[in-house]
Amino acid sequence: MHTEMFGKGVQYAFQTSNNMTLAMSGSGHTAMECAVFNVVEPGESVLVAINGIWGERVAEIAERMGAKAQTLVKTPGGHFTNEEIEQALAKHKPVLFFLTHGESSAGLVHPIDGIGDMCRKYNCLFLVDSVASLGAAPLLMDQQNIDILYTGSQKALNAPPGTAPISFGERACHKMFNRKTKPVSYLLDMTHLSNYWGNDSKPDRIYHHTGPVSGFFALRESLAILAETGLENSWRHHNEVAEYLWKGLEDLGLNLFIKDRDLRLPSVTTIAIPEGYN
Ligand code: PMP
Repeated sequence: MHTEMFGKGVQYAFQTSNNMTLAMSGSGHTAMECAVFNVVEPGESVLVAINGIWGERVAEIAERMGAKAQTLVKTPGGHFTNEEIEQALAKHKPVLFFLTHGESSAGLVHPIDGIGDMCRKYNCLFLVDSVASLGAAPLLMDQQNIDILYTGSQKALNAPPGTAPISFGERACHKMFNRKTKPVSYLLDMTHLSNYWGNDSKPDRIYHHTGPVSGFFALRESLAILAETGLENSWRHHNEVAEYLWKGLEDLGLNLFIKDRDLRLPSVTTIAIPEGYN
């Protein structure tokens, strides 16, 4: 596998120029754990936005590795204002703030603008989950100052499950490569993974684990298709198809769970359970 060509595909999909851009050997959960395990040390504080199941899981992952998980909670389908996030950053002084871009359990796409800037102001890393949204709804890693971004292979990228692109910006690399303790996971240690993918400056790439090569080739092909299609066209396509579905459901007399059209995730549509149904 030509790792440089592969990295370019992920860089395009994420809209980033980060060198530390690669793919995990594993599903979206592997990327969630990799991000938290590498940039957080036991005892540090992590702020997690919970408005569905993904924040709940990240809070649990952070707790399991010995971090202090502080949570910012809304009922599923709710979203956070930048003021609410800023107040929580000031109060908890976390090293990491986690937010789900496409909350698939509620069908919500969360606004991202301005949050990365606030995280910088409070010296906190901004981690975004885009497993369900990347390629379906606009997300610009560098422009939106996202420090760590990951996605999955099997959603809008349309590749088989089992691999997960991830990218770390400079601030994230600085934190994870200047730790006092080793990450709890050997398999997900970015010191090893960055060498495995040829993203460190070492001349030799050394065996670390056996990657799912067929999955990587399929992922690489899906990234090539996305680059040929163009991100804007992919976003437009997902939106048009979603609007068609939304109208069809409303014509049947059903109500959509996310009322505000701008907050509906184009890749996952949720329906409010009609009165009288369990
Ligand atoms: N985050 C989100 C938003 C998801 O929708 C999913 C999968 N449904 C995941 C993370 C986890 O991905 P995986 O099932 O590939 O581990």
